[in-house]
Order: sequence, then structure tokens, then C-alpha cells
Amino acid sequence: MNIGIVGCAGRMGQMLVAEVLATDGCALSGGTEAPGHEALGKDVAALAGAAPAGVAVGSDPDALFAAADAVIDFTVAAAAAGHAALAAAHGTALVLGTTGLDGAAETAIAEAATKTAVVRAANMSVGVNLLLGLTRQVAATLGDDYDIEIVEMHHRHKVDAPSGTALALGAEAAAGRGVDLAAASQRVRDGHTGERRRGDIGFATLRGGDVVGEHTVVFAGPGERLELTHKAASRTVFARGAVRAALWTAGRPPGLYGMTDVLGLG
Ligand code: NAD
Repeated sequence: MNIGIVGCAGRMGQMLVAEVLATDGCALSGGTEAPGHEALGKDVAALAGAAPAGVAVGSDPDALFAAADAVIDFTVAAAAAGHAALAAAHGTALVLGTTGLDGAAETAIAEAATKTAVVRAANMSVGVNLLLGLTRQVAATLGDDYDIEIVEMHHRHKVDAPSGTALALGAEAAAGRGVDLAAASQRVRDGHTGERRRGDIGFATLRGGDVVGEHTVVFAGPGERLELTHKAASRTVFARGAVRAALWTAGRPPGLYGMTDVLGLG
């Protein structure tokens, strides 16, 4: 399968290039970067620490989507809508890991999923996808006598908060309880907040250093506390999951899929 990487010079972009090059059945069809980026024109593979592949970083996503069977997007929210539109226009499968998306991107993704296979997940690691399922199951079992708090920590460069994974965990907790996350979520506490509202799903965000990604779902009940934790030690787990998702799209009908579909956990 020919796989293209948009944002190929980014932290995840470089891992994705290396993973595509190292995976049987995959060929790197190219990589793009934002207009004006210093990586433009450099060898995509060499940037990722691999042997040069003779493919230069480009700035034309249209050409990349036309050439690839699947494109993997771990970029920025502002670019995701355009990439989804190109996936739709070319019928190219899209694996989308970018988080913090706005309404325009959500609309473009929904539209693309009517034309091609789109795999979207805020976190592509196997462990986190198991954690999502466990969170729903525990929330459904314990009920709102147990207060749910979701704590996440990421490196100092992360631009969105709470993390997409934390929000996905919140959505699973809400689904388990049969409530609407938007109505139940408590994303910020500051000053004299009053007592905790029963049924709230709280979020706490920590940022610092080079932490790849850590998430804990706390169920704090009367006399006991249950905590489910996932810690990613390397971005490789996300890249491996994304490439697995790209390979999985081969021959799939159009639709919006998640990692639970890819991993057969659904
Ligand atoms: P990063 O800032 O290192 O990389 C983003 C790259 O996208 C940069 O190189 C930037 O120049 C590039 N870019 C910006 N606009 C572009 C455009 N129009 N065309 C092409 N490239 C463009 O960030 P990162 O740490 O690699 O994370 C990227 C995204 O992936 C974030 O939203 C992050 O939350 C998400 N992420 C998701 C998962 C997951 O498993 N789903 C895991 C890790 C990170």
C-alpha cells in the first residue's frame, strides 16, 4: 500500500515515516509540510532518521492525496479540514490522529467518510483503546455514587487541553452512565467553586517536560477509589497503530471508523 504522511517533519510525522518504511506491505508515497516550513525540499526519510528514500518533502497535499492509497494526518486542527476534503475528492483513505478539531473539520470529516474510509482516533495505541472500553464498563457498573475524574499529563509543547484522549475517556464514561458529556463535564475549577456536583465528570490537565502521554480515570467512591491508568513511553505506539489502521483500510467501504474497529475490539 502507498502511504503518504502530511506534516511529515512533526514529532509524530517523523515517527510515522519511520514506521511506514519499516512495515512490510507499505511504501512511502511522499510527505508534505506547511507552506514555508524549513523541512520543505529535504529528504522525507532522512528527516525521520532513516536512509534517504529519494522523496522530497513537498507542500502540495493535492498531489500527495492523488498518489497515495492512504494518507496519515497528525498535523494541526487548521489543516485537518482541508486534508479531509482532499481525501473525499480523491477517494483516498484517511487516518486522522490530529486532535483539538473545530466544527468545520468535523463537518469535512463526516463528508469525507461518505466518500472513503476514514479512521479517526484521538489515541491510536492498543492500550488506550482497551482503557476506553474498560472506562465505559466501570462507569456503567459503579453508577454516580463514584465521582469520575480524568487526569492527563503531556509534554510542554502540546497545544490543546484537555487532550483528545482525555475527552474520549470522558465520552466513554458518560456513555457508560447514560449521560451527555457536554452537560456533565467539569473542565476547569478555580477559586470558590462550591461542592462537587453529583454526576460531574471532571478533567485535570498537567503539562511539562517530555511526557509522551499519561491518562488516569479515577472513580472515587465512598470508602474506596478505583484508578485506571495508561502511560505511553514512546510515540511509536501511536505510529504503529496509525500504520496498522492505514493497512486495515484496504478494500473497506466508505465510513467513519475508530481504532476499536481496526483492533477488532468493538
Ligand atoms: P507537531 O507540532 O510536532 O507536528 C505537527 C506538524 O504538522 C508540524 O510539523 C507542522 O509544521 C505540520 N503542519 C501544520 N500545518 C500543516 C499543513 N497545512 N500541511 C502539512 N503539515 C502541516 O505535533 P505532534 O506532537 O506531532 O502532534 C500532531 C497532532 O497529533 C496533535 O493534534 C496531537 O494531539 C496529535 N496526536 C495524536 C495521537 C493519536 O494517537 N491520535 C498521538 C500523538 C499526537
